[in-house]
Parts: sequence; C-alpha cells; structure tokens
Amino acid sequence: MRVVILGAGFGGLELATLLSGEFGADADVVPIDQADGFTFGFSKLDVMFGRATAASVKHMYADIAAPGVQFVQSTVRAIDPVARRVTTDSGVFDCDILVVALGADVDGSATPGLVEGGHEFYSVAGAVAVADVLDRFAGGRVVVGVTSTPFKCPPAPSETALLLHDYLGARGLLDVSDIALVMPFGVPIPPSPDASAAILAEFAERGIGWHPGRTVRALDPARKVAMLSDDTELPYDLFLGVPVHRAPAVVGAAGLTVDGWIPVDSLTLQTRFPGVYAVGDVTSVGTPKAGVFAEGQAVVVAAQISAVVRGSSATRTYDGRGICYLEFGHDMVAKVDVTFLGGQAPAGVLVGPSSELAADKHAFGHDRVARWFNRDWTPAP
Ligand SMILES: Cc1cc2nc3c(=O)[nH]c(=O)nc-3n(C[C@H](O)[C@H](O)[C@H](O)COP(=O)(O)OP(=O)(O)OC[C@H]3O[C@@H](n4cnc5c(N)ncnc54)[C@H](O)[C@@H]3O)c2cc1C
Repeated sequence: MRVVILGAGFGGLELATLLSGEFGADADVVPIDQADGFTFGFSKLDVMFGRATAASVKHMYADIAAPGVQFVQSTVRAIDPVARRVTTDSGVFDCDILVVALGADVDGSATPGLVEGGHEFYSVAGAVAVADVLDRFAGGRVVVGVTSTPFKCPPAPSETALLLHDYLGARGLLDVSDIALVMPFGVPIPPSPDASAAILAEFAERGIGWHPGRTVRALDPARKVAMLSDDTELPYDLFLGVPVHRAPAVVGAAGLTVDGWIPVDSLTLQTRFPGVYAVGDVTSVGTPKAGVFAEGQAVVVAAQISAVVRGSSATRTYDGRGICYLEFGHDMVAKVDVTFLGGQAPAGVLVGPSSELAADKHAFGHDRVARWFNRDWTPAP
C-alpha cells in the first residue's frame, strides 16, 4: 500500500517516521517536499536574535534513512483527490492513501507597506534578514505586530517581544528603545488565563506596550506608522510583522479547501475524499496552528493507515491535546498543556517558567531530530 505524504514538515515527518517504525522495509511511504531540509518554527527566533545560523538549524532531508521511506524533493503542482494522483516537477505519483501536510504559506505582500517598510520573521529568509537588521539597529521604537488570523504558534509574537527585550538589553539599547506588541486577541494566550497573566506581568515589568484586540492592517513607510484595524496608528522605527497566512495555492486549486483551509473529521483527520487525510496547519481542525498539534494528528493518521493495512479497525482518535513551550526571556521557558476539541472551552495549565523547562524544550527538539533524521543535534542555547 503506497502512502504519499505531501509536505515533510512537523506533521509529514512524524507520520513517515511512525509508518517506517511500524512496517519497516515493507512500508512504501513517499514524502514529497519542495525544500531540501526542515527548520523548526522556534528555531526562527534563534536565527532572528543571532543565537543560531540558518544552516545550523536546518535538518537535511537527505539524512532521512527510515526503512521504507523514499523522500522526493519536488514542488507539488496539482492534486487530484478523487484519483489520489499528485503532479510534481519530478513526475506524477499515484497512491492508495494520500496525506496532505503542506502547512500554511506566509504572504508579506498581502499587507500594504510591509515589504517596503517592515520585516516579517515567520519564514527562515525573513528571520535571517531581521538578524541582519537587528545587528545594525541603534535603538528606537520597535513594533511587533500580527496582521491577521489565523497565524502559526499564537504565543510566538509574545515570545518575540520578550526575547527582543533581552536582546536590546544585552546590547545596552533599552534606554533608547521602546517595544510595543499588537495582538488580535484580548490576552496573549486565550486558552490559558494563567499563562496570559504571567506574560502580561512580564510585559508590565519590562515596559512592553500591549495593544490587544487589533491587528496591523497596513504600514505607511513614508510616515513610519503602523495602521491598526481600529483606525489608530503606532509610530515605529523598526516593524517586525507576523504576515498573512494562507493554505498553499495548490490545495485550494484541488478543491480541498472550504473558507481557505482543509476541513477534516476532527477525530480521524479524514477529508471528504476517501483515502485522503490532512494534518497540521493546512487544516481547519480547530487546534492552533502549531507543530505539536500537527504531530498529534500525524499519530492518529498513522494509526488509521496501520488499521487499513492490517484489516483491523482503528481505535485511536484525535484528542486535540498539545504541550506548548513559551520563551519568557532570561533563558527561562514555561509550558502550557492544553486540549482543544473536547466539547468544552480549552483550558491550559501553566507550568514554570524555569530553567529546567528550557532544558525540556531543548530535549523536545533534540529528540525529534534524532527520530526523524537519525542525527544528534543540540538546539541553540
Ligand atoms: C516563529 C515561529 C515559532 C514557532 N514556535 C513553535 C513552537 O514552539 N512549537 C510548535 O509546536 N510550533 C511552533 N511554530 C509553528 C510550527 O512551526 C508549525 O505550526 C508547524 O511547522 C506546522 O506543521 P505542518 O506539518 O502542518 O507544516 P510545516 O511544518 O509548515 O510543513 C509544510 C511543508 O510543506 C512544504 N510545502 C508547501 N507547499 C509545497 C508545495 N507546493 N510542494 C512541495 N512542498 C510544499 C513546505 O516546504 C514545508 O516543509 C512556530 C512557528 C513560527 C513561525
């Protein structure tokens, strides 16, 4: 039974690794990705703040040595979900089971003025460019702003504001700088009142301006102001933006999306097309767009595929649970254990922040690289 996985990110890598672990050389798994390597989302913050180079946080697909897994580097151009046929730059792939794990693309050009007058830090290229800009920054007003919802890793803009405060402090620029954060939510982490209160206390202590319940709709590079969704303006010297997110165009063209994302059965991750699943950021399953949720969904799809292969019925269904690590700055990390989809309002419990949890987060990255790429890797300190 051939399984083709579109996208070798958090979800695709986990699924390929699980199927290889279960079926060994008998597996026939083909992950297809346009990139030559994978970078964790959180590593982009390390790159942006000069704690790591882009090369040191990239994990090469050429290192995948899982039995039964044949990685193909190519761009997916068309998907036929009825025939389960995929057209790529390297040819056409037919399969018994198709899993779409293509993530969310970011589009800086969708926000007027962002490309000309600001910077995004959600792509690796954007994080590399910001590292260079920060290196030359001599202080001033920095605005970290979200341009639309949904966006990946909802805690990331808050983490960015705190890490930026550390960074400017280390460079002796706090006296001549000012940090403001524009967020669409009323609190930093809506499902966790504990985590939100802790982050807001940290913002207050560090003098980070908190602008909740709005987005940045445009920048005016000539006047150096960010124009917000409530028609107010914030002046900036440096703008660091979370750009508009979209499902990759090929997914929409395939007729897989509704309102921009792929709807799936929230327990099985099946799309409306038989034999076609979708996991991670590309779906509208109801969890935040974060790697831990993509990974949890891959676990369920692996169980479904395994049941099909073995002719049994799958007992494992998706529970919407994930543990998110939160950077608090000063080398401290907290974690929030949160479950969505349970038929009740999600409630996340905060643990930390502490230096022990910073070590836990390192182990999280280290363990995944060991499992997915069979390689020893230490995340940036
Ligand atoms: C700054 C930042 C910090 C973050 N921190 C965290 C964190 O601490 N914890 C956490 O859990 N999550 C975090 N995230 C979010 C996390 O990175 C994503 O949610 C996660 O990677 C989603 O997994 P995925 O498998 O759905 O998609 P991705 O991991 O995005 O993988 C999608 C893959 O599809 C490929 N692709 C797309 N289009 C095509 C095409 N047409 N042809 C071929 N290949 C294609 C891409 O190259 C990519 O490799 C963070 C994100 C950012 C930006």
